[in-house]
Order: sequence, then C-alpha cells, then structure tokens
Amino acid sequence: MSCFICGEKKLYKFLSLSHQPPSDAFLRAVDLLKPEATYPLELCLCQSCYLVQLNYPVDPEKLFREYVYNTSSNNSLKKSFESLVNNLVKRFNLSESDLAIDIGCNDGTLLSYYRPHKVKILGIDPSSIAKLALRKKIPTIVDFFSKKLAGKVVKKYGRAKIITATNVFAHVDVKKLDDFVAGVKDLLADDGVFVSESGYLLDFIEKLQYDSVYHEHLRYYSLKPLKILFKKFGLEIIDVERGSIHGGTIIVYAAKKGKYPIAGRVAELIRREEKFGLYKKETFINFARRVKKNKLAIQKLIISLKSKGKNIVGVGAPAKGNTLLNYCNLDEDLIDYLAEKSEFKIGTFSPGMHLPVFDESRLFKDQPDYALMLSWNIADELIIKLKKAGFRGKFILPTPKPKIL
Ligand SMILES: [Zn+2]
Repeated sequence: MSCFICGEKKLYKFLSLSHQPPSDAFLRAVDLLKPEATYPLELCLCQSCYLVQLNYPVDPEKLFREYVYNTSSNNSLKKSFESLVNNLVKRFNLSESDLAIDIGCNDGTLLSYYRPHKVKILGIDPSSIAKLALRKKIPTIVDFFSKKLAGKVVKKYGRAKIITATNVFAHVDVKKLDDFVAGVKDLLADDGVFVSESGYLLDFIEKLQYDSVYHEHLRYYSLKPLKILFKKFGLEIIDVERGSIHGGTIIVYAAKKGKYPIAGRVAELIRREEKFGLYKKETFINFARRVKKNKLAIQKLIISLKSKGKNIVGVGAPAKGNTLLNYCNLDEDLIDYLAEKSEFKIGTFSPGMHLPVFDESRLFKDQPDYALMLSWNIADELIIKLKKAGFRGKFILPTPKPKIL
C-alpha cells in the first residue's frame, strides 16, 4: 500500500482495530447462519505528506450499495446543512441561473435547502438511499461520481457554481481519488467552488475518536496533504472552516488557481495543526496508546456493571457504534440490544457483535439501568430527548474517557 495522495511507499502503521466487518453491513436473521466477511481495520501515517489513511481499502462495491444511513434522521446534521447552504447562497451570490451539485447526496436533504433560493440542483449518489432523494423530486443520478460521469453531467446540465461533498470526500475509493478530483475540476464553472466537509484529523486525535475509523472512511484529513492533492489538479484551497457535526469537521473551499483570494484562515489553521503535532510521528504513537487504554477502561466499566446484574442497552446503531462494539468486544453477554430509530436498521443485527436492533421505543418499556451512547457526537441532544421521552436510567459516554451521567 502507498499513500493515496502523494504515492509515498513508506507508511507507518500506528493503530490496529483488528479485523472487522463493514460497519454498515447490518445483517438479517437468515445471514446469522452464514459466514461474515471481515477486513483489516488499521490506520497508517504517510511519512512524506502526513496523510492518515487506512492500509486496507475494501472494494467499494462491497460497501456502498447497501449503505443505510439517511440524513434526515439526524437533526443536528440537517441544521448544519441548512446553514451551509444559506452561507453558500449568500457568499457566492447564487441565483436561478446557477447549478449546485451535491456528490453523495444521500436522501437529498442538503439539496432541498437550495429550493427556497431557486438555485438549480442535482444530486449524485451510488447508494440505494438515493431513491429517497428521487422521491422528494430532487434530480438525482444514481451512480459513483467520476471524471467520465462529470463529462456527461456537463453536457446535460452545464457546469456547477457550487459542488458540495459532505462526509464523502474522505470516503472516495483510493483508485478513484485522482479521477474524482479531476472530475470535480471539469464540472466546476470557471468561478465555481468545491466545498468538501470531512472529519477533521485534529478533532479525531484530540477527542480520541477512534470509533470513527471504519472501512468506508479511507482518509483522515488535515490541510497540508489536501493542499498537495488539489495542487495536482490546478485547484487551490481558498478558505477553510471548522464544523461541529460528526464530532468535528473541516469545511474546505477549493477553486481553480488564482480565481479567488486565499483567506488568512488557511495559513492560520496550518500553523495550529503544526503546533498540535499533526506533522509528527510521536503524536500518533501517543494516540494509539490512549486508544488501547480507553478500550480497557470501557471493558472494565461494562463488565463491572454487568457483574452487578445491571442491564445495558446501546443507544443508536451508527457506523461508529459498530467500530467501538467490535473493537471492545461488547457482545450480547454485555449489551442487551441496540435501540435505534432508523427504519432501515430496526429488525436487523449489528455487524460483528450481532446485537439485535430494536425500535427505540423499547427502551422506554424496558427501562434498562444504563444506556451506552454510541452516537456520542449528538449525545447532548439525545440525552435531553430520551429523558423527556421518559427514560429513567443512566447514560454511559464511552470516549475520550468512559463516563457515567
Ligand atoms: Zn503522502
């Protein structure tokens, strides 16, 4: 394996989360009698450009077609999309003559916020969830984005003033990353802007978010490697912001070279990354040490509660939840079930640990002693909601240090 961005062969493996099934590969009851495919889940650091990436990319055909995440089940995500779209419309003076494209549009939630502004919209998404976008009458192409597809889109719809890719750009298949960026460049109008929002490496390290490592999430971005990637295609980063969804993101604005002034925030954030240690190997060695410690602490807490006869239910069944459950080995002897709202997951079993996924309402009937918060990134919002809805138990937050609330 070599670096996905700069091609460097010397990669330093700093974290192994063992072999795991794809974190969104929820199983039906009949699948439980069949073997389950697992793949190495390990992180390494490029010793040249300091990109953090997985060292085993799984064939994307095995991952995305059955992707079951739908945006509209997450309120804070919806709010963040709405404010992103409103900002884009204002900042780049978008009007009826402009086209906005969302790559990885999921159920079309982000694009729907352009509607009051009359901006032309188009979604692109390879997964079955894109059907929900079509149902909302959002023009959507159900396919993987590529340079070839970009050519077809230009012919049929014209070039885009804005292309967004939220929680997608770090997921693009390694063999197709260059093709993806080349496609984005072809598809952008001369004054077009590519806006990508991805999990931010600085938050990832600082807040010990090892559970956001899963096979779909191939790269963990900081600014310097991204600059190198865009430069290869005549693009440059013109601005950057930090977002708060998914536990911390960077929103990176890229445009054709020389088209926009470069905001001071770009150099400022790079300085901050350097100071934090994102371009030093020791930072990652230390991170791996903290991850192992966290695993032991979670196991110790859960086993001690369980030994006292307490009932523990996992709240939510997000991708990150499965990484945590699998890495910490929290199986049905320890966690009774997962309580979830998404209709796509209820009635299934979690990949790896095979915990049954039940409708969230069961939590209020059963009143288990503890709720393990697997969607800790929206825990504040969720805890208030669950208490209001009548849940009387305590809450366990697993990272960065297991905590009972
Ligand atoms: Zn590299």
